[in-house]
Amino acid sequence: MTGGARQGVPIPATEPFRFCPADGTKLGEPRPSGGVACPRCGRSWYRSSVPAVGAVIVENGKALVTVRAREPEKGRLDLPGGFLKVGEHPADGLVREIREELGVEAEVVGDSVLQATHTYGEGGDWVLAIGFRVRIVGGEIRPADDVAGVRWVSLEEIDDLDFAWAHDRELVRAALEGEHA
Ligand SMILES: [Zn+2]
Repeated sequence: MTGGARQGVPIPATEPFRFCPADGTKLGEPRPSGGVACPRCGRSWYRSSVPAVGAVIVENGKALVTVRAREPEKGRLDLPGGFLKVGEHPADGLVREIREELGVEAEVVGDSVLQATHTYGEGGDWVLAIGFRVRIVGGEIRPADDVAGVRWVSLEEIDDLDFAWAHDRELVRAALEGEHA
């Protein structure tokens, strides 16, 4: 048996691993640090938040938000971005996601403007979201299939918008306030 499920009951992603994700060996009690070592392969396993990046593209004092074309949270607003690949630098991952979602070349402006932890959906895995201000450096916006459309929004209206995730609203606020500072 591999993975975390036993008798069809999923183990919450916050609980220590019970089986080695690499070879399926049953694991013992975790150390006080939360890590648990596999007696077979010797690797130690920890539960962590999954890193993701989000972009606020700012032009003329307005921020670009995207309309989700797919579940979860179809029809609500979010931001360009997504989960990082293994070993990928956050800025590189963000440029890649923007290219995939909007068809434009972009570059990160300055340091991260917001970090937030949240769960991805009800009872979902924990995510560490890292937000950046971004500018488009080439191309015309052509949304991909998972983006229903884009809107340019001002600081004054963001409290009334239907964001899928609260941290995206705060990321837009941080980026636009930084722009006005
Ligand atoms: Zn192992």
